[in-house]
Amino acid sequence: MTQVETVRGPVDVADLGTTLMHEHVFVLNEEIRQNYPAYWDEDERVAHAARQLNKAVAAGITTIADATVIGLGRDIGRIAKVAAQTPMNIIVASGVYTFNDVPFYFRYRNRRMTASGEDPMTDLFVTDITEGIAGTGVRAAFLKCAVDEPGLTRGVERVLRAVARAHVITGAPVTVHTHPATRNGLDVVRVLRSEGADLRHVVIGHSGDSEDPDYLAEVADAGCLLGMDRFGIGMSPSLERRADIIAALCQRGYADRMVLSHDAACFIDWYPHDEAKAGNYTYIHDHVLPALAERGVTAEQVEAMLVANPRRYFTPGPRTATNA
Ligand SMILES: [Zn+2]
Repeated sequence: MTQVETVRGPVDVADLGTTLMHEHVFVLNEEIRQNYPAYWDEDERVAHAARQLNKAVAAGITTIADATVIGLGRDIGRIAKVAAQTPMNIIVASGVYTFNDVPFYFRYRNRRMTASGEDPMTDLFVTDITEGIAGTGVRAAFLKCAVDEPGLTRGVERVLRAVARAHVITGAPVTVHTHPATRNGLDVVRVLRSEGADLRHVVIGHSGDSEDPDYLAEVADAGCLLGMDRFGIGMSPSLERRADIIAALCQRGYADRMVLSHDAACFIDWYPHDEAKAGNYTYIHDHVLPALAERGVTAEQVEAMLVANPRRYFTPGPRTATNA
């Protein structure tokens, strides 16, 4: 029986059910929050998040992967409070989110300083996965980093390689935020491959922002899953055009290479807070699935994208190294 760690502990991968592969609960700058806390009511925010997740549970969604890592305000104690108020399985991540430099904490720390000989970031990611996060007992079950418009800057490449090493060591799968307008999912493929990653356990995130089926097919042909994952958050392209491209890829035989999600958050401090729009985890069920059905996407293909592909992603790959 293969299990995956969630906030409430291990769950059989066969029981993950309908899984949204790239969501957030809270995205915020913790240093700003601590110093200018007037906007924040912890109990209210936790209760609101649980309500939004419970609406998703009512729609038949049983699991979310919370892609919130260092740089996005990860606080697993807070997520555990939410998880106590909802039956939703919440899978949490390890990693670092940056578009340019590494956080200063890592800037002057390097592999010559670690007993393992690994990048100190890798050691922290591995600990999150094998021992748990910050004394909570909650273990991360996937790795996340970002390569955005600036591309593989020194800092971004360092994080990507540290994530790849942690993946190779632990077998935990990887999700990378990418910038499809610059087709940089292919750069991610190249770097991960050079580190010996198992690309079947890699999501190239935000692929759904692309309207270039040949680019997407090339990434999928490398073995990766395409994250069709920004539904209902007001980002271009439109729902209709996102649905068109998914339907076209299904026709070309790629239903087993796509996963669906919203990239929603119940609270994100990047924008003025809009309670009415925050944390809509049912937009896919309410709007996207009907749009896909209109375009001839079958129930079996939807099941692949929402259930089977996530289950395969979270079924551990072989470890090629051990330090766990
Ligand atoms: Zn995200």
